[in-house]
Amino acid sequence: MLALQAYENRVCPLCGMPIGFCHDYDRVHEAFAGGEVELCFVTEMREQAMKQYRESGSVNSNAQTTSLKPRIIDKQ
Ligand SMILES: [Zn+2]
Repeated sequence: MLALQAYENRVCPLCGMPIGFCHDYDRVHEAFAGGEVELCFVTEMREQAMKQYRESGSVNSNAQTTSLKPRIIDKQ
C-alpha cells in the first residue's frame, strides 16, 4: 500500500502523467504541439447502459456501476 501511495503521489490525478513533467510548462510545450478531442467508445457504451437503466425507472440510489458484456466471437 505504501508503494502504491508513493506511486500515486507522483502521478497527476488529472492527466495521469508524472507531475514533474505535466506541471512543467516548458517540457510539456516542447513535447506536444497541442491536443485533440477523441471519443472513448468504452465510456460511451457505459454511459448508454446507465442512461437505459435510469430511464427504466428502477433507480433508487447513485451506487450503480457498469460492466461490459464480451461478444462471443467464432474463430473458425
Ligand atoms: Zn497533469
